[in-house]
Amino acid sequence: MPIYEYVCDVCGHAFEQLQRTLSAPTPSCPACGKTKVSKQFSTFSASVAADASPSCSLGACPSAGGCAGGGCPREQ
Ligand SMILES: [Zn+2]
Repeated sequence: MPIYEYVCDVCGHAFEQLQRTLSAPTPSCPACGKTKVSKQFSTFSASVAADASPSCSLGACPSAGGCAGGGCPREQ
């Protein structure tokens, strides 16, 4: 079963969601409960393709390029 990575458009919380089917409904954010979430590429794909914030696990670091050293303030 594929695991998809989502980032909440409202609060920026990143989370992974196991989806049994491709037609599964969009999950809600576990942090704020909103359903405005964006599906991300898998961590593997993102690490290969991303050039903006390679080490930001949230994929939504406000300081693009500023978290390359692993000191991203939004990383948990
Ligand atoms: Zn949220």
